[in-house]
Amino acid sequence: MRPDLVVHGISTLLTMDAASGAGALGRLNDAAVAFVDGRVAWVGPSSDAPAADQRIDGSGTVGVPGLVDCHTHAVWAGSRADEWEQRLAGADYTAILERGGGILSTVRATRAAAEDELVELARRRLAGMAARGVTTVEVKSGYGLDPISEPKLLRAAREAGRRAGVRVFTTWLGAHTVPAEHRADRSAYLRELIDVQLPRVVGLADFADVYVDKGAFTLEEGRAILSAARAAGLGVRIHAEQVVFTGSAAMAAALGALSADHLERIDDDGIAAMAKAGTVAVLAPAAMLYLKDTPPPVAKLRAAGVRFAVATDLNPGTSPIHDLWASATLACVTMGLTVEEALLGITAVAGKALGREDLGVLRPGSAGDLVLVEPPAGEPCVPGALLQHLGGTTIRRVVRDGRAV
Ligand SMILES: [Zn+2]
Repeated sequence: MRPDLVVHGISTLLTMDAASGAGALGRLNDAAVAFVDGRVAWVGPSSDAPAADQRIDGSGTVGVPGLVDCHTHAVWAGSRADEWEQRLAGADYTAILERGGGILSTVRATRAAAEDELVELARRRLAGMAARGVTTVEVKSGYGLDPISEPKLLRAAREAGRRAGVRVFTTWLGAHTVPAEHRADRSAYLRELIDVQLPRVVGLADFADVYVDKGAFTLEEGRAILSAARAAGLGVRIHAEQVVFTGSAAMAAALGALSADHLERIDDDGIAAMAKAGTVAVLAPAAMLYLKDTPPPVAKLRAAGVRFAVATDLNPGTSPIHDLWASATLACVTMGLTVEEALLGITAVAGKALGREDLGVLRPGSAGDLVLVEPPAGEPCVPGALLQHLGGTTIRRVVRDGRAV
């Protein structure tokens, strides 16, 4: 079949598929990619590229699959700039949360916002990500925390994705924290989550997530919520082992979680459980940096065979960053990932963390998302040059669903 679009002359193509090029990144020099009906139809040397209705010259660029940001909280209203200044002056995040700040202040502002307003705020954030070559974003709720507001956030996330031209996966995070009105009786909120919120988000959310940590939910509460969500047909993921160790990564892995995220304080049993279940470790280096935290045990996770994804964790408090390239650089600098691990972590492994082997890779049949990236001035078209400069790449062109945008 004649392709709709061929991108040819790509100086260095990283397919992120070891089977379709050299090394773990599937590298091809002077390469071309052909698209039919919105998907990749062919990948190979530029000299063998088929004729097409539209042709784009990729010379002077590194071609990579559309980036996948697999952990964000991109729908919120309000600002936490004041709180950030308090933290700079030495205030502790958990103490701020216990005083009704942190997540709870964002919840107040987000509940008060109209759905249209949330769509527009999220659209602007997703558009900023798209301009940096991100074509797929996971967006969590979790700033509504009631049966009306949680579905509102999930609907807003999907609509914002449509308007920004980004593929959005939604995650219900009603168990982000216990809202102020339920602090005196957390068991009532647990019942609301399972009996009222969950039935209302089925059909609006692809996944369920729970924040099991000090000041949030206990291991047993997390297990009850994720088990109910799984029974309702949602995929399962978790915020685990970030502030204190709880055993939540092992719990989620045993439930078949696609990912366990953060993991600064994971233990050996948790690592073994994740390796056995194939649960992806989603690293959030900007959150670690903003919280002045220590890194997760990357060497132990690697030795056990756990795969790494890297996400922005975009949120208004602990990780106010939308640039996934910068997150990948930080994962190398602050956590010790290799360049190969970090690049796979914002593409193929991030797709896997969303349960999608066809995202973040370029091979026949995969999603038709290709990004042409110019390294910083004077740098060669090699993988390391994409990450060495913090946020230093330029996006020349993005193809999404087989169409140049
Ligand atoms: Zn998060």
